[in-house]
Amino acid sequence: MSNSVFIPIAKPYLGEEEAQATHKPILSGWVTQGPEVAAFEQEFAAMTGAAHACAVGNCTHALHLALLAVGVQPGDEVITVSHSFIATANAVRYCGAKPVFVDIQSETFNMDPALIERVITDRTRAILCVHQVGMPADLQAILSIARKHELPVVEDAACATGSEIFWNGNWEKIGKPRGDVACFSFHPRKVVTTGDGGMLTTNDSRLDQQFRLLRQHGMSVPDTVRHNSNQVIFESYDVPGYNFRMTDLQAAVGRVQLTRLPYILERRRALAARYHQLLADIPGVVLPFEPQWARSNWQSYVIRLPEGCDQRQVMQSMLDDGIATRRGVMCAHREPAYPSGTWSCGIEPQECNCQKGSCARLRQSELAQDRAIVIPLYVQMNEVDQERVAAALRKACGLSQRGE
Ligand SMILES: *Cc1c(COP(=O)(O)O)cnc(C)c1O
Repeated sequence: MSNSVFIPIAKPYLGEEEAQATHKPILSGWVTQGPEVAAFEQEFAAMTGAAHACAVGNCTHALHLALLAVGVQPGDEVITVSHSFIATANAVRYCGAKPVFVDIQSETFNMDPALIERVITDRTRAILCVHQVGMPADLQAILSIARKHELPVVEDAACATGSEIFWNGNWEKIGKPRGDVACFSFHPRKVVTTGDGGMLTTNDSRLDQQFRLLRQHGMSVPDTVRHNSNQVIFESYDVPGYNFRMTDLQAAVGRVQLTRLPYILERRRALAARYHQLLADIPGVVLPFEPQWARSNWQSYVIRLPEGCDQRQVMQSMLDDGIATRRGVMCAHREPAYPSGTWSCGIEPQECNCQKGSCARLRQSELAQDRAIVIPLYVQMNEVDQERVAAALRKACGLSQRGE
């Protein structure tokens, strides 16, 4: 390890204001799903341009509720990607449904719309697309297929707070939403954080009501309403709901984080632009691709290593130089939690040539996991840090290609 300061993969951007903001709910005596949550929801809806925003404990909750609310039931199929954090596919299975995986486009790491139609069956109940690491998926193409087949679209926008898409002649935030529901995460690895936390946005008031019912045990009347009523109210429980609440402490932090979002986006975009320059001439390295109609929030900066470069060796060499990296986004279908029969690539298991950890139809997903790496990018990074990353990567690729 060199003696310069270690560069981590990510760092949350939190400060004194967030710490201060938690005083109010703590001292008020209302600490969960109360006024801070309501205010955070309104501010998040305003930021995205959605009619409704509903806060939950994390994005995994959000995905689960979104799929339930659009009608996913046991025995159904949901078309999604394997190449995502495992929560995407898990949410489908929580509903008793089967994830049907389509491959990604190698340039954007997002769902390839051209592959969707061939896996649609009469059991298909929804499409769950992902704006992977903050890069908007091709919603125009995905939505036109979904509309043709009358399928709801849920957007896994876990990483995409602040990302934008060019839509009807304007740049608009992800989450307005264009599909039926968009789901966000506020985990510390995402661009704004509440420790843990999640949000659902929709323009459909019936869906929003469903989220609100299900996030709080299926309770017919929320605590806030009973608390503020001068009449005695008896609640009822009409469906088995969940406890997916966000606390007011988290929401208070989230509200401060939202005020920082413009600066966070500006910084992240500047850092990404600088990486494009610094890394452009490393032979064989493929830099992230941003389609003309997309503006990423650069939640992660994912590069593809040159042919013949060993991923683990490159990562180790960089770690030896004091720089953290991560391998490309995982593939759910290669994990022990996804044995044959729990997912599909659109071909019946007995007819598909899928081997353990390898599926011919998910080739680009697997290549992205095996060949790509994530390099550090966070608001507090400076130019010298980025130069160190670039130099270490250049050295590591050179060593690996020579087989050292
Ligand atoms: C982080 C992430 C999730 C899970 O979010 P949590 O808030 O941790 O539950 C889901 N999908 C994707 C694509 C993610 O990156």
